[in-house]
Amino acid sequence: MKRIAVLTSGGDSPGMNAAIRAVVRKAMFHNIEVFGVYQGYQGLINDEIKKLELGTVGDTIQRGGTFLYSARCPEFKERDVRKVGIDNLRKRGIEGLVVIGGDGSYRGAQRISEECKEIQTIGIPGTIDNDINGTDFTIGFDTALNTIIESVDKIRDTASSHARTFIIEVMGRDCGDLALWSGLSVGAESIIIPERQKDIQEIAEKIQQGIDRGKKHSIIIVAEGCMSGEECAQELTKYINVDARISVLGHIQRGGSPTGADRVLASRMGGHAVELLLNGETAKGVGIKNNQLTATSFDEIFKTSHDNIDKHMYELTDELSI
Ligand code: ADP
Repeated sequence: MKRIAVLTSGGDSPGMNAAIRAVVRKAMFHNIEVFGVYQGYQGLINDEIKKLELGTVGDTIQRGGTFLYSARCPEFKERDVRKVGIDNLRKRGIEGLVVIGGDGSYRGAQRISEECKEIQTIGIPGTIDNDINGTDFTIGFDTALNTIIESVDKIRDTASSHARTFIIEVMGRDCGDLALWSGLSVGAESIIIPERQKDIQEIAEKIQQGIDRGKKHSIIIVAEGCMSGEECAQELTKYINVDARISVLGHIQRGGSPTGADRVLASRMGGHAVELLLNGETAKGVGIKNNQLTATSFDEIFKTSHDNIDKHMYELTDELSI
């Protein structure tokens, strides 16, 4: 293998730059030329592909976002459109493509490997949602988690000064990991996640019992994929007379400098992606399981819908907030 390319696609996440850097440096260590595809699959079609040098990735490990930019490109689902992108790789003699993104981005990579046998593809899970099969953690999850914790800690200061109930809406379309992990970390009274049914009346009663016992404040964390903070407040007032304040954390969760855990994860995964390409592997996603680097075929990753909510952690959150 003499030449590879790397792109970031879908929603960005902190640590993507650290992953690109690891791919570039590891490849160069093995005397492989690396090309950066700018703007994800859109740039692949538009031929926005440039050779990356060692220095290109200098001073990027600490930056959030992705210096290669990311884009959504719905046209990439069409075979004819993909052919244009594949030809742009071929004409440069590129034999391996590393795609950093979520499972939509993986699907694009899977198609490329099916339609062009000369190009191997490897996926790296880059998303704050932690919603990809085949890995315990995705790049960006830890940073987003810490951003939520920091925000809720600040909200809690004012919540306790006024003895208020706060509802915090966090990201997570189909995956409640951000809500679950942050809920446990901030000592939330309740968490509401897409994977589990939650009885709002029960939550309301718990909040009321807390108020009756003189609790200073209550925090409810709700994953956006379940209901909005606003809906949650409306539901609560059906059962109790509570002056709930809502905070929608929004895009701040996707930004910021990656945490140490995310930088390490991104560096390990980036390095592993290049090793897999060198070993002739294709159509696989890099993962980390029990702190060991893994590779799982895209077919396997797509086989089941994602639900790896830790049952014990979920129950513990409830038990610790009595
Ligand atoms: P994520 O990668 O974060 O899940 P998306 O689902 O938006 O984000 O996917 C990112 C991009 O991947 C899409 O804009 C599209 O270019 C490509 N993609 C998604 N699904 C497919 C598919 N079924 N076939 C080919 N390309 C796809």
